[in-house]
Amino acid sequence: MKKRWCCLKIRLMHIFQAKIAPYKRYFHLACFLHLNPSMRLCLIPIFCIALILGGCQAPGPVTETTIHRSWATQYGGILRGPRQYRLSQTCKRLAARLNGLHLKPYVLNSTELAAYSWPNGELFVTQGLMDATAPDELAAVIAHEAGHLIAQNTPQPTAMLRGQKHRSGAEIRADQLGCRILEDCGISPIAMLRMLQKVQQATAPKDPSYGLLCDRVKLLEDH
Ligand SMILES: [Zn+2]
Repeated sequence: MKKRWCCLKIRLMHIFQAKIAPYKRYFHLACFLHLNPSMRLCLIPIFCIALILGGCQAPGPVTETTIHRSWATQYGGILRGPRQYRLSQTCKRLAARLNGLHLKPYVLNSTELAAYSWPNGELFVTQGLMDATAPDELAAVIAHEAGHLIAQNTPQPTAMLRGQKHRSGAEIRADQLGCRILEDCGISPIAMLRMLQKVQQATAPKDPSYGLLCDRVKLLEDH
């Protein structure tokens, strides 16, 4: 009889251990079985609460999108509303000329004049840049970022509108591709020049991106 009970106990242990495998961080079955009966009774409700909390708080898979959302919080977070609608509509204006690139636009709650894009097509434009740009100039912002993504010269983790001095070739190439996208959409590429002039004027000369912005504006003026 004692042997049969032991076999049953072992079988039950195996089933129970399989069921609680994901929750081992909360509970150790071996410890539980060695406690006296009154202690076991006390621990059962605690164990149940731990299971419920574990189920509620289990983190979802970490995707690129969740990473970029947390990145966006450093820049004031994401804004919804009329600006988001305007940005989405402007992306749609260019969509047919983006070589199949699917942009996912977001507005950053920042007064800085800046835009960023990620290799997965996520595009972030600041509230400040949106408010400073006319419709065609906002299209130029998107076209420049799309130029980065189409050329696949996106620096990690993001491509930036202002650019970095050591990546001047990538910035000039993105401007050129952006101008071509604008022309294909029936928008004057002068919008790219106007937009960059506004960003340059809002940038302090001591800013690391200022020299490159001046070079890019000069190149567009000369064309
Ligand atoms: Zn850029």
